[in-house]
Amino acid sequence: MATLIDGKKVAAEIREEIKTQIATLKTKGITPKLSVLLVGDDPASVVYARAKEKACANIGMAYELFVLPETTAESEVISLLDRLNQDQTVHGILVEFPLPKGLSKERISQAISPLKDVDGLHPVNRGHLISGNDGLFPATPQSCIELLLRYQVDLKGKDVVLVGRGETVGKPLVFMLLNQNATVTVCHTKTLTLSAHTRRADIIVAAVGQAKMITADMVKPGAIVIDAGINRTESGLTGDVDFAAVEKVAGAISPVPGGVGSLTTVLIQRNVLKAIQLQKGEPQ
Ligand code: NDP
Repeated sequence: MATLIDGKKVAAEIREEIKTQIATLKTKGITPKLSVLLVGDDPASVVYARAKEKACANIGMAYELFVLPETTAESEVISLLDRLNQDQTVHGILVEFPLPKGLSKERISQAISPLKDVDGLHPVNRGHLISGNDGLFPATPQSCIELLLRYQVDLKGKDVVLVGRGETVGKPLVFMLLNQNATVTVCHTKTLTLSAHTRRADIIVAAVGQAKMITADMVKPGAIVIDAGINRTESGLTGDVDFAAVEKVAGAISPVPGGVGSLTTVLIQRNVLKAIQLQKGEPQ
């Protein structure tokens, strides 16, 4: 049976680390603050924004939620972001997606200062990631790396097969894996014989968005499997990996729920602390 890569346990560890750092910052008169913008009333986004509020309260991070009506003009959203960019008491800014029709994700993401961009979407931060420089990077792909590192998986030289090249997870993860010196193969819908790639992988990361598409016969015995997928099915929330079958073959596996997704909020909070260092020009 595979080792369970427990996202909740790792999230709890990181939360404790963050709490300690926040306590230290407070002694220096700095209260880390995350500002979140919610435009419209997308139900999932409302839940995520409220969940972040609670999570920030739990660790002593200040939190401010701006709820704007669906009809808000893009120029108004951008002027609010400008104001938050200038506000020295705000250290991290995040816009909940999806945005209502007519608002551009690209333009709005680019209106956030790269030094406060805790979702890691600004092209400047994308550039830092590609160059292997320090910056603010997106939480979900970071979560995949964090789970591996916290379970003492040395990525150096390993054959990692990443299934999915989406903008949110797959693409940033390619560079995070390369920065860990992994040997990375990226698979997608145009890949011929996907299983030929996955079967030789030391590590498989699934970031596809198709329930249970990684089956046991696609996994080398003993391989490590990280599942970033979130699929809502009739039987509930499920990942991209057929967990029940794959855990009999894999050496270690992350579940859904309880895996990659468990770290997202805490890694956004850690980005707020990183943003403070970047804003002060301090080395990491
Ligand atoms: P996208 O929808 O942007 O991309 C999906 C990728 O999977 C594409 O590259 C696509 O290929 C590839 N793909 C789809 N079907 C197949 C297939 N049959 N064989 C091989 N490749 C395939 O995904 P995202 O990056 O936005 O998200 C990926 C997953 O991560 C989703 O399940 C999403 O719900 C989840 N997610 C989880 C989060 C969390 O907190 N845990 C947060 C964000 C996302 P192609 O490029 O050729 O179309």
